[in-house]
Amino acid sequence: MGTSNAYLIESDEGLTLIDAGFPGREAAVFGAIRELARSLDQLKHLIFTHGHPDHIGSAAAIARETGVRTYMHPLDISMAESGGPFRPLKPAPGLLPRVLCRLFFHPNEPVEPVRIDQPLADGELLPIAGGIEVIHTPGHCAGQVALLWRPGRMLFAGDVASNIVGLGDPLGFENLEEGRASQRKLASLSFDAAGFGHGKPIADAASTLFRNKWGI
Ligand SMILES: [Zn+2]
Ligand SMILES: [Zn+2]
Repeated sequence: MGTSNAYLIESDEGLTLIDAGFPGREAAVFGAIRELARSLDQLKHLIFTHGHPDHIGSAAAIARETGVRTYMHPLDISMAESGGPFRPLKPAPGLLPRVLCRLFFHPNEPVEPVRIDQPLADGELLPIAGGIEVIHTPGHCAGQVALLWRPGRMLFAGDVASNIVGLGDPLGFENLEEGRASQRKLASLSFDAAGFGHGKPIADAASTLFRNKWGI
């Protein structure tokens, strides 16, 4: 929860990064790129699940070094391009989220602004890495999207859900009802693997777990 995940997808046309972590984490991203024996200019796309500080924090530094093209849903673009303030969150149901949300989410702490090159639309299929489908999933954050990477059958759920102590809620919601609807929306999809903004990825049968938790 004090950490957040970013994911690199490797494909013929280059590398795609999903989310950009807290501020000051660019070296970890550059290290991961070099570990794949790629150069920094081979990072072509940076797709944000949403505009929260723990997902855009290192984005400006990464964009400066790589010239990467950036993508985000329109409802979060102004927040990212101003570097905050961020819309407030209400803690998810339960005692622990109430404590952790206050500890880790600071809506008035600015981060370095990042310019967004391309707005994302619900239902759009990005011609990146063999096809990445954009699914608008508001609730935790109005401009949040989940990303379904079709060839890898992997869902990048952002903060629609977390997998810290099992599959569950994110720390907080702007709108709980919308957040539940988004969880149900993802539970209706078919995928094998799932990655989260926070917590461990799931390698197999992930959509079954989503369906058991939020399916109708
Ligand atoms: Zn978030
Ligand atoms: Zn997050």
